Amino acid sequence: MFSKILIANRGEIALRVIRTCRVMGIKTVAVYSTADEHSLHVRFADEAVCIGPPAGRESYLNIPRILAAAEITGADAIHPGYGFLAENASFSEICHESGIKFIGPSPDMIHRMGNKSLAKETVRASHVPTVPGSDGLVENLEVGLDIIQDIEFPVILKASAGGGGKGMRIVRNREEFEKQFRMAKAEAESSFNNGDLYLEKYIEKPRHVEIQIVGDQHGNVYHLGERDCSVQRRHQKLIEESPSPAVTPDLRLRMGDAAVAAAKSINYEGAGTIEFLLDKNKNFYFMEMNTRIQVEHPVTEEVTGVDLIREQIRAAAGEFLPEGGYPLPFGHAIECRINAEDPSKDFRPSPGVITTWHQPSGFGVRVDSHAYQGYAIPPYYDSMIAKLIVHGHTREEALDRMMQALDEFVIEGISTTLPFHKKVMQHPAFREGDFDTHFLETFS
Ligand code: ADP
Repeated sequence: MFSKILIANRGEIALRVIRTCRVMGIKTVAVYSTADEHSLHVRFADEAVCIGPPAGRESYLNIPRILAAAEITGADAIHPGYGFLAENASFSEICHESGIKFIGPSPDMIHRMGNKSLAKETVRASHVPTVPGSDGLVENLEVGLDIIQDIEFPVILKASAGGGGKGMRIVRNREEFEKQFRMAKAEAESSFNNGDLYLEKYIEKPRHVEIQIVGDQHGNVYHLGERDCSVQRRHQKLIEESPSPAVTPDLRLRMGDAAVAAAKSINYEGAGTIEFLLDKNKNFYFMEMNTRIQVEHPVTEEVTGVDLIREQIRAAAGEFLPEGGYPLPFGHAIECRINAEDPSKDFRPSPGVITTWHQPSGFGVRVDSHAYQGYAIPPYYDSMIAKLIVHGHTREEALDRMMQALDEFVIEGISTTLPFHKKVMQHPAFREGDFDTHFLETFS
């Protein structure tokens, strides 16, 4: 087992990893930018190294500085969290070359799943259903129109190097396609430095349902059930839950098997997520794989009782996953992402000093956050300041518990998404479990 882990990240996820390391008796090193000097992850780590100014490329994305911090402190492994360098194949490679274990998959696995069209090709070979569309990249307009002859409109054009909800365009007819194709290519070139596009059938009113998997270095891969992440704004998740109100036991088995097959197709090691779209007729299609821990991992932890960060660390250290897999999920868990944003002003970011902070607690309530009263939220990073997670016997109980926890949460000095979440929890369609990825478009 490792003796010291450096966490190449910030905020709640850095703190989350530190907590598990402490439980496991592993020393921790935090890295931080000058904007994060007062963040809790810096205070809770055994050692902390300042790696540069606020801008990501000067600090949390700066590979030489992070490696120097690991070498100076004698860390034998690096946990990348999510975002920043978590899905950067060359970072995984450089760690390996420097004799430091990257807690995550190998560069080759990251590469094969990071490129979305290659990922689809890879899993299709293992008989995992994928969204109908192009086999690989669409070189030009004519090729695109040819494919559409088969799959028919509406379609969605995606940038192969896109992510975080960016680089996607829905197209409903031929005239629009010609225009959108050129625009999408130019946009992908300027935003991602890679103009590669691929094409998919646009699934109407789907749910986003993803499966958590963990693999070890000995060829074992197990899944830990699903998360429903259909409540999205501009393709960005805001609320997640497990289990999904739309998934039946039989569907769960089939989706779980498909996810395990997808992960095994690349001998996957570590924690990962296989994202699927689920259509109205309960057909599911592979969309992409995330080769890291996800923001929404706590809902899976709450229903399974498994510490996923611990499993990541154990797998990276070469240990065996539990024989026969993980416990069956129990009850229902929901997560609300509390962002420093003003929902009444189109979710405009609202950085600043938190003058009052009282977080909820009690039976079945969990808050993962690096913030506290007096903390100044820096304007440079993601606006998420806390994750509120509840667990209940039933979905209804979890919803009621979430409502009470949201009421108890007091954050002053900045605007947050707390009022937005209260509205969603009371919405009849949400309470019924009857929603898809377009739910928020009609929400008022
Ligand atoms: P990103 O990597 O940018 O998050 P994804 O490929 O995971 O992009 O897609 C994000 C969201 O976009 C999905 O959760 C879904 O809401 C929507 N989406 C993506 N592909 C399709 C599709 N073929 N049909 C309908 N909706 C889609």
